[in-house]
Amino acid sequence: METRSREELYINVQPIQAAGRLTADAMKAMISYGDGYSVCDFCLKPFRLDKIKKPAIEEFHFELAKFVGMDEARTVPGARRGFQAVVSSLVNKGDSVVLQAVGHYTEFLAIEQAGGIAHEVPINTSGITTGDAVAQTIEKARKKDGKLPKLVIFDHFDYTNANEHDIKGAVKAAKEFGIPVLYNGAYTVGIKPVDGKALGVDFVVGSGHKSMASPAPSGVLATTKEGAKKVFRTTKIEGDVSGRKFGIKEVEMLGCTLMGANIVAMMASLPTLRERVKHWDAEVKNSNYFVNEFLRVDGNKVVSECPRKHCLTKVDCTESFDKIAQKHKDHGYFFTHELDSRGITGIFPGATRSFKMSTYGLTESQVKYLAEAFVEIARKHSLEVH
Ligand SMILES: *Cc1c(COP(=O)(O)O)cnc(C)c1O
Repeated sequence: METRSREELYINVQPIQAAGRLTADAMKAMISYGDGYSVCDFCLKPFRLDKIKKPAIEEFHFELAKFVGMDEARTVPGARRGFQAVVSSLVNKGDSVVLQAVGHYTEFLAIEQAGGIAHEVPINTSGITTGDAVAQTIEKARKKDGKLPKLVIFDHFDYTNANEHDIKGAVKAAKEFGIPVLYNGAYTVGIKPVDGKALGVDFVVGSGHKSMASPAPSGVLATTKEGAKKVFRTTKIEGDVSGRKFGIKEVEMLGCTLMGANIVAMMASLPTLRERVKHWDAEVKNSNYFVNEFLRVDGNKVVSECPRKHCLTKVDCTESFDKIAQKHKDHGYFFTHELDSRGITGIFPGATRSFKMSTYGLTESQVKYLAEAFVEIARKHSLEVH
């Protein structure tokens, strides 16, 4: 297998990779605990992985809940498994869920698996999901189905444009109907402060491999004491021949949660996450610096809302770099090569029309260098720079 050296050799602006990059501590922990059931050396009664005291997995779960401002937390193999656990617990066949038209596809699949119905909240002309639109969708769903939706799933920042959606408004709307809210923090938990209780949400889901400097698959599902009773309910089944019962194993978690390298890596990265979320403003500042420089190139456009409130930005170069690509022998790959030769990677290979990129985790001088590279490439190919 080839060694992957992208993070060492390049400035990598791939949005899904920027904040999942491991800390050195996480790497060390993974090497030490790479063997299968390595964390199970001291799995004592009542035999559940999140109760293990050595290594300090139990304590980590308290810390993780605190980190997102909730009462209880479990690790899950990806944010999507968090949605799945919540939807499976709250939604029966024929029940409905309200989610955004810009919601992540895994939310739709979680609803589909439970036999539920999806009611989408449209965005407004500025690309934002408002609280009012959530309220209207709930009303519409009630009329259509003759009953209220069982859950509202809300992405604070969507994965396409990373626009900030009105989470407070959404919570207010849902609460008026008494509907629980799942806060999808795949693009927030681990990079910006998230306080689920302050927001008034019932569930907080984060992605370990996207935003928590953790390996795949990993993630967090956190909830209130009330929510825990439903989603972290323990098994009741009994073997009809053996008469066996399974103690405090949790049904939605299928007993034990993240194991081995994945859990210890999450644990090792948590102190870094606690520290780095305090510097979110500086990250957003870098993002806006880049965007402003990027817009100096004649024809460049930003698809995401401006000024940026996130490091992920969708841009459009149809009127700039794509015009060069139309005439270039390498087509869109001319742009990929130009970036590559400057040590920049992570933009979809060959893309010159519309693509996503993220400045998350770059130092100030790296962001400057990145911006200069775009300007330089533009000048080299005779595009006007303002
Ligand atoms: C990436 C992403 C997900 C999926 O996260 P996984 O941890 O890979 O399951 C879900 N929702 C949003 C908004 C995302 O950006």
